[in-house]
Amino acid sequence: MLARYYINSRMHPSTYKAKAYSAASETVPLASTTIPRREPTERDVQIEILFCGICHSDLHSVRNEWSEFMATNYPIVPGHEIVGRVTKVGSAVTKYKAGDLVAVGCMVDSDRTCAQCKADLEQFCPNMVLTFNSPDKVIGGFTYGGYSDSIVVDEHFVLRVPTNLNVAGAAPLLCAGITTYSPMRHWGVGKGKKVGVVGLGGLGHMGVKFAHAFGAHVVVFTTSPNKKEDALRLGADETVVSRNADEMKKHAGSFDFILDTVSADHDIKRLYQSTRCRRQSYVSRRSRRASRCASV
Ligand SMILES: [Zn+2]
Ligand SMILES: [Zn+2]
Repeated sequence: MLARYYINSRMHPSTYKAKAYSAASETVPLASTTIPRREPTERDVQIEILFCGICHSDLHSVRNEWSEFMATNYPIVPGHEIVGRVTKVGSAVTKYKAGDLVAVGCMVDSDRTCAQCKADLEQFCPNMVLTFNSPDKVIGGFTYGGYSDSIVVDEHFVLRVPTNLNVAGAAPLLCAGITTYSPMRHWGVGKGKKVGVVGLGGLGHMGVKFAHAFGAHVVVFTTSPNKKEDALRLGADETVVSRNADEMKKHAGSFDFILDTVSADHDIKRLYQSTRCRRQSYVSRRSRRASRCASV
């Protein structure tokens, strides 16, 4: 290991200054600053960031609300819903070239050698490097996220963005999108299935659109009757006001799948009783949080 560290330290690439918004502590707001980014090495893609979504995890991290299991290292630059345009690539990059529209999500590296990595499940790699607040193995310090004007990432962790997408609208797909898409695909949500989506915030918005696109019958649970119009516009077939016992009763035991996106405390048992069969799946934001963004 000593030899390896020695080699790495000699191979540190040079850096350049990027603009960013960072927080210096959990009690101060984000402020404009400059941060070091590495010049692209052989397999790196340098990206001009066009849009970056704001994920609830960004806020938790900035305020150090996960200090018990993932303490924040300051200064922090959050952001892991990144869409941008390639400005430069390293000499060994094969998948991208300058001008390509690309994206970066929650992770920027892994060890590439463990069983999870070899099974294309890098999100479960014990040595995964998160887009922000992870030790930066290349230039030291900690990784900085997408609240910045550029980022440099190994091509293995860069995704292609179809050019027919609204670029700003595509950014939330990188975390909120994959977090809702993944469990629904895994559990076979599709035509002939009745799906409940709890909450119509950022994740719920995505969940409704995906479930509708998969052909499922989509019911939105909400505590706000005034969200009905939005829910129907996004693709829901019905809405249920979860504080209304009669409306809840009408749907009891009828769902194949419920996607719960509410982060505030609420009655999970009552929702669970709405599933058709207790062996059916109930995926909550709480369990998602435990497994980190987009790791489901
Ligand atoms: Zn996130
Ligand atoms: Zn690994």
